[in-house]
Amino acid sequence: MTKQILRIDMSGPNYRYEPMPEKWQKFAGRGLTSAIVFEEVDPGVHPLGPHNKLVIAPGWVTGSPAAPSSGRTSFGAKSPLTGGIKESNAGGLSGQQIAKLGLAAIIIEGTPAKGKWYLLVVSKDGVKFEDAAPLVGKGMYEVDEALWEKYPKTAVIGIGPAGEMKLSNAGISVNDMENRPGRYAGRGGLGAVMGTKGIKAMVISDKGGPGVDIADQETFKIGRRKLTEAIQEHALTKKDGGLNAYGTAILINIMNEAGGLPTRNFSSGQFEGAANISGERIAEVIQERCAGGGEGTTDHGCHPGCIIKCSSIYVDEHGDHLVSCLEYETAWALGANCGIDDLDYIAQMTRECNDAGLDTIEAGNTIAVAMDGGYLQFGDKEGALALLSEVQKGTPLGRIIGQGVEATAKAFGVHRVPTVKHQSMPAYEPRAVKGIGVTYATTPMGADHTAGYTIAPEIAGVSGKLDPLSDEGKAELSLTFQAATAFIDSTGYCLFIAFPILDIAKGWEGMAETVAGVTGLPITGGDVIPLGKEILKMERLFNERAGFTAADDRPPEFMRYEELPPHNVKWTITDEQLDSVYAWVHEE
Ligand code: SF4
Repeated sequence: MTKQILRIDMSGPNYRYEPMPEKWQKFAGRGLTSAIVFEEVDPGVHPLGPHNKLVIAPGWVTGSPAAPSSGRTSFGAKSPLTGGIKESNAGGLSGQQIAKLGLAAIIIEGTPAKGKWYLLVVSKDGVKFEDAAPLVGKGMYEVDEALWEKYPKTAVIGIGPAGEMKLSNAGISVNDMENRPGRYAGRGGLGAVMGTKGIKAMVISDKGGPGVDIADQETFKIGRRKLTEAIQEHALTKKDGGLNAYGTAILINIMNEAGGLPTRNFSSGQFEGAANISGERIAEVIQERCAGGGEGTTDHGCHPGCIIKCSSIYVDEHGDHLVSCLEYETAWALGANCGIDDLDYIAQMTRECNDAGLDTIEAGNTIAVAMDGGYLQFGDKEGALALLSEVQKGTPLGRIIGQGVEATAKAFGVHRVPTVKHQSMPAYEPRAVKGIGVTYATTPMGADHTAGYTIAPEIAGVSGKLDPLSDEGKAELSLTFQAATAFIDSTGYCLFIAFPILDIAKGWEGMAETVAGVTGLPITGGDVIPLGKEILKMERLFNERAGFTAADDRPPEFMRYEELPPHNVKWTITDEQLDSVYAWVHEE
């Protein structure tokens, strides 16, 4: 069965189904959201205006039987935060249910009458537009709970008050298997785009849907076996391996050792309280608090069929759920970067972000910038939690904080602003890990570690071991990782399969074979980089047409003149090296 596009026009509101056009057949996930935004959104439109579109697309293999860790959903639009093209993907329940309805993508366009808020119920019978007034103003914990009472076991995509206020740091929440709002397409303010469409939430039910067709069962099964074996063999992704036992926060101690854990608004690469917020400590606390029973676990998957299970359920002192999940970026952003080493406070702040609908990376960086500007002292955990809670209240201060790092830096007179293309940097210091700095500077997404995770060879020793402090070869390295990532983001697989597929050849082959099996297209491992580059080219061209120039591919100025302890290093990659990363776009 040919997949369909579901196009929803909120100015009606109404909807229609369209056959998947031939030109988009080779895309899914990020590739498809970027292709649609590239073709259908004028790069000059205002991101919050009626002509921006929100595109939602599951990956190629999402929803297929037992493809491991493959439930990602891509969300794409012109970003209110960066002003460029954006793709942000999330785990949770939505990808599999959309795919099993036979949908390649949902395109949401137009804006409703002012003040109208809708709940969209998407099922095999079409789209129902319900009045969302009872949900407006509510945090995502309450929204998810209320919607499962009426629509149990469905996928819920929603926005918190931050999205309703159309703040640039508003993310899109997807519920997990326990119906909690911890899975976010957080980056780039896409929750604000959903807010402009007047959509508080979407309920997706795959009940009675056609499911996902497999064009070539044999190739799919061979690929699935190879990829599954590779995941189960690799030290980082196997059962009780690094990610399963300690979650992504296993990186706190590793990055601290490497001198690349950004601390106190990127003023140091080491944090004296790192051990207190590490993955090891998170696991210990959960074990201690749940020794006699309780909800806590480090062996948690964010969607059915994840075999890596890097997620956790962090609990309070009674063993009751506090937040899921407490991951590396979050523990760092709301922890080390703010000088805070109290896990319980970090968990409460994470919960506040999940409820209000904020990206934790941008939120943590924003608090750190406010601290740098003297509004709070670094380490003031009570003050940080109170500041975050201003967002949900919608106070003028909360609205500034909810706009993210650059708006807050202006409000508090701060010149040390760790952003690229207006989006704040994640948890790897670019002066101490040069390749990831090249990715931050050049990816069309704005500073984003997931866009080209060179940490694999620079820190984790995956696919070889490179010196993180060296500039040599980092432009080429970043481009290769950016292209491979654009492909992986299109498969629907979790990015963490990158570790086994880079180290174990059958994993790389298996990933490509599962895609070939589902689509029937002759895709092999050799197509990963070329197809990835095709996606990057559309994204890059969109940004150029939106007005981005080489000057937007630069790290912040202070990194060029401030030395970062403990290695006392500055940003030394030249502008020529940065400009070489995307030179091919106008040559190939
Ligand atoms: S590895 Fe972690 S983030 Fe990836 S799908 Fe599994 S639980 Fe979700």
